[in-house]
Amino acid sequence: MNGEKIDIVIEDGKIAEITAAGKGSGQPLNNISGTYVSSGWIDMHVHAFPELDPYGDEIDEIGVKQGVTTIVDAGSCGADRIADLIADSKRAKTKMYAFLNISRIGLSRIDELSRLKWIDKEQAKLAILAYEEFIVGLKARISRSVVGDSGLKPLRLARELSGDTGLPLMVHIGSGPPDIQEVIPLLQRKDIITHYLHGKTNNLFDAEGHPLRVLTDALARGVHLDVGHGTASFSFRMAEAAKRHGVGLHTISTDIYRGNRLNGPVYSMANVLTKFLSLGYSLGETIDAVTSRAADWLGKPELGRIQVGDAANLTLFTLDDERVELVDSEGERRVANRLIKAKGVVTGGEYIKCEVRA
Ligand SMILES: [Zn+2]
Repeated sequence: MNGEKIDIVIEDGKIAEITAAGKGSGQPLNNISGTYVSSGWIDMHVHAFPELDPYGDEIDEIGVKQGVTTIVDAGSCGADRIADLIADSKRAKTKMYAFLNISRIGLSRIDELSRLKWIDKEQAKLAILAYEEFIVGLKARISRSVVGDSGLKPLRLARELSGDTGLPLMVHIGSGPPDIQEVIPLLQRKDIITHYLHGKTNNLFDAEGHPLRVLTDALARGVHLDVGHGTASFSFRMAEAAKRHGVGLHTISTDIYRGNRLNGPVYSMANVLTKFLSLGYSLGETIDAVTSRAADWLGKPELGRIQVGDAANLTLFTLDDERVELVDSEGERRVANRLIKAKGVVTGGEYIKCEVRA
């Protein structure tokens, strides 16, 4: 992200040349000069299995149509249905990876860790073996409504499964019990805390907005922070506290699915990115959080750069001077004067126009 004016020449789906503006050979795309270009946006937390209710959506609706060329499904499926999710993704234009829910039933219920018998380590290991190129980690939702009376046991089982398979954990946090003070110390380097800016009780900041000691210790161990905005998990108050104390920014993700896409407060990746601009992060920091930083976590640096010889994987967007009202998961509002709009993507050798509200 440097604001330089360039031409990118694409041949056979690959980047053939990057030159000064006006110097590139070939036919330009219509109506895109003057837009920004980054490597294709990566959304680290989505729900891409459409038949699930409430946490489901169509892959390309939350992917390429939003300017997002790569999604990571955050545990919609466990061992029982992961094969179906992966089969769906092969019919989509959006590239997909997945966190495997440690509960074999996935989000077919929203209390998927309330019965320990649903955590079937042997089935999970078979799924991981069968789909190792898609599965990038394990998902464990550790909050009261999900674990019921199981307490920390699901997280301890997730930790064992992580040890056995070498896969990191993505841990969803929210209302307790379990107490956040007991959850975070169980996380290790490369594990992800998603929803780290949620504003419910049991959050990661004290009453004055200082990050809790368990959080700063986790950051020192190399634990990764992911936004996971969602219907209920992004608070401007927390995000402002995090910004003030230099906590993050690592990856920005939406936790998008049909309901919060159509009715808010998520709407789109561009809307979530605009919120981070409004918090005072630079355009570069904001875009890095959905490109290079996500690609680095995935261990796929080619997804986070624009380089001659690589497959063309690009997002085109504008930054418009426009007054916009933004809303968080608590119903709090902020007014911003700059708005990111996704215009199109190049992926799989094709230009696809975005169809989404900003
Ligand atoms: Zn989610």
